[in-house]
Amino acid sequence: MRQPGADTVLVRHADLGVKSGQVQTEMERRLRDNIEALLDDRGIDAEVERRWSRLLVHASEDTVDAAADAAADAFGVRSASPALVVPSEEDAIVDALARTARENAAEAENGDAEAEETIQPGDAFAVDARRAGNADAHPFTSKDLEREGGAAVWDELDDPEVDLSDPAATFYVECREHEAFVFTEKRPGPGGLPLGTQAKVVALVSGGIDSPVAAWEVMKRGAPIVPVYLELGDYGGPDHEARAMETVRRLAEYAPNYEMPVWKVPAGDVMDALVEEVGAARMLVYRRFMYRVAEHVARETNATGIVTGEAIGQKSSQTARNLGVTSTAADMPIHRPLLTMDKNEITERARRIGTFRDSTIPAGCNRIAPDFPETNATAEIVDNAEPEALYERAKEAAENATKVEL
Ligand code: ATP
Ligand code: MG
Repeated sequence: MRQPGADTVLVRHADLGVKSGQVQTEMERRLRDNIEALLDDRGIDAEVERRWSRLLVHASEDTVDAAADAAADAFGVRSASPALVVPSEEDAIVDALARTARENAAEAENGDAEAEETIQPGDAFAVDARRAGNADAHPFTSKDLEREGGAAVWDELDDPEVDLSDPAATFYVECREHEAFVFTEKRPGPGGLPLGTQAKVVALVSGGIDSPVAAWEVMKRGAPIVPVYLELGDYGGPDHEARAMETVRRLAEYAPNYEMPVWKVPAGDVMDALVEEVGAARMLVYRRFMYRVAEHVARETNATGIVTGEAIGQKSSQTARNLGVTSTAADMPIHRPLLTMDKNEITERARRIGTFRDSTIPAGCNRIAPDFPETNATAEIVDNAEPEALYERAKEAAENATKVEL
């Protein structure tokens, strides 16, 4: 259902309520800046205001829809509602609810809107009203609003039905001291914390489906990323690289006010050496090398950890035992937000955040994995397989990285 007359977006944030006053203020400011940057990046002319424990985006009737989408893309947002603002008086609120029902019913009748987007004859509805703040501010209660508003909506609809537990359509009212917000939807945001409220993390991005999702998950918790891509020569190739770059470009759209150049690290020579010299433990040696590279970049950029798209048992190098053995190469924490997820869940998430398509550009590249990879390594096996000076080469590779601005 659409909200006629909406020109303001009511934005609810997610986890911030549990923080102390000062931390919460800091976080709300950051969220406001981030939403402003998203609006600006999309050419939407609107103002963001912090009010109560909400943010309000003052847009116009023409831009409110796009502004709500922008707000719902900001990390830290639980939901965003395009809202009609009226004085917090019973008549005004009831009239607004009646108008909302009337215009949506007319759209359904004219077939103007997608069937599921508007209220159809016979659909059950509910009015959900709340008053926030001073309990004595109004001569009416939220129950009064629900009853009077419900009756007014009923009169406007064709063959209406009321169902408070499982309505097809809900008419919401949030009543504050001087104004009331009337709205029909809560567009879900990602939740989490505003980007920039945590320290940076190095994100190992491969151009596969998993790694951009993992990077997005730490961004969702407020940590900006430093993307690192290892260029593997004959074992990577231009298509691989293009996928990695495109997925980072997509991630950057969620964070227009953050710089995130990709650190492109030359690792073709090391890969050649590993394919030549290392057998069953090759992938594990490669993983250890990769973590070391990431750690150097983290030190260089003041990042505090490494995030990867690994999941238990997804590949031979990711068995629980192998993750244990490879992780010891790094002194920093390696974060694996996809650790327990199945591939189909990860894929679904990649589609939702918009990185899936770029991750599946066909990439012709040679296979690195040995025919019979080690799945049950010990530290000793991997140590013995490791070529001379591997860690020095990791340092050197990181120092020779080029930063690709997207
Ligand atoms: P993805 O996991 O991104 O879908 P993949 O499955 O091809 O790609 P894996 O072999 O599963 O990659 O690698 C596990 C993780 O290691 C990746 O999620 C990514 O974090 C990191 N990684 C792999 N290859 C590279 C690379 N060339 N550059 C940077 N990081 C990489
Ligand atoms: Mg993977």
